[in-house]
Amino acid sequence: MRGRKEEKLTRDRERLARLQPGGAPDRPIGVSSPTQVDVIAARAPCPLCDTTLHLQQHVASTVKGTRLRVAHLVCSLCGVKRSLYFRLEQPLLH
Ligand SMILES: [Zn+2]
Repeated sequence: MRGRKEEKLTRDRERLARLQPGGAPDRPIGVSSPTQVDVIAARAPCPLCDTTLHLQQHVASTVKGTRLRVAHLVCSLCGVKRSLYFRLEQPLLH
């Protein structure tokens, strides 16, 4: 049985996860190639139980005019779904 305290903790952790880089479309993680998305996503822990997340899908998406890559992840232990947002950055040309 889940108590009020645990529910609050879960909400806090969810909120914290969204504040992390990549946790929301307006704070994407900058990457120089799409392959980095898979590497970073594979290392991301579950915000609720710290278990490794399983990458379900990696899609290209445009949010508010910004081209993003979105990694859809699911926790193998608690089943929580999480999305990580990435922005492809062009290497600077000199
Ligand atoms: Zn989990």
